[in-house]
Amino acid sequence: MTGEGKMNACKLALRQEKAHQTIIEVPGPASAPVMIGQGYFTLIAGPCAVENRDDYLELAVRLKNGGLHILRGGAFKPRTSPYSFSGLGIEGLDILSEARSVTGLPVITELMDIRNLDAVCCHADIIQVGSRNMQNYALLKELGRVKMPVMLKRGLSATIEEWLLAAEYILEAGNQRVMLCERGIRTFETATRNTLDINAIPLVKTLSHLPVFVDPSHGSGIRSLVSPVAKAALIAGADGVMVEVHQNPAEALSDGQQSLNPDEFNQLSQELRKIAGYEKRVFL
Ligand code: PEP
Ligand code: MN
Repeated sequence: MTGEGKMNACKLALRQEKAHQTIIEVPGPASAPVMIGQGYFTLIAGPCAVENRDDYLELAVRLKNGGLHILRGGAFKPRTSPYSFSGLGIEGLDILSEARSVTGLPVITELMDIRNLDAVCCHADIIQVGSRNMQNYALLKELGRVKMPVMLKRGLSATIEEWLLAAEYILEAGNQRVMLCERGIRTFETATRNTLDINAIPLVKTLSHLPVFVDPSHGSGIRSLVSPVAKAALIAGADGVMVEVHQNPAEALSDGQQSLNPDEFNQLSQELRKIAGYEKRVFL
């Protein structure tokens, strides 16, 4: 059976006809909205976690000057060990807000706990649901009731059908502004942190009308792989990439080994812009 035949349980996430594609306009603080889906290629980048105000603001401005469309930064971090840095919490959200007004870029941040929903809605433009929460159905249903775009990352061991059904929870509860993010899955391979499922990009683009992003940072776990995998994602049809960037990756409090430095990011951004041109994609 092909991938297409297996998705019978999905309804709203599926493409109704060939031309059916969701386009998401993210207003943000600047006058022109950022566009996601339907021929656009959208660049999201920033550190895994917001660590302090001054470094974050400086990095945000450098990334904006490098062609960034949407700024990322974790304030609530899901960490495997309870002893690892788990983000600045509400203070991190305040720093995100400031970066948003300084750069004019919309921001995306992860929501882990429904009790922080209002705070995240006030400070961010897109809510990220992390891999570990892809099947947190209470959280997904709640996000179906908000008027904010949601990025749903693929669960560590989720099949494509389970991932689309998770999106279905948000859509069914009334929020149509859902984008997906392939971030690698668990396989027998241990040379990389996760195995990025490149097949998922064209397959999900065929099955679903929802925009599909790729996260080459968590998808590989290795800095030198991030740029080649990001370019592969564009060619495979992804609507954008989300990349971790840190001003000094060796000193990062989380995920430094998979973070680009700002110069590496700017180089990647230029290369993606060129490839987007060949692919007849709109890179604003
Ligand atoms: C992240 O984007 O920093 C993150 C924690 O990603 P994931 O949920 O894919 O592990
Ligand atoms: Mn991370």
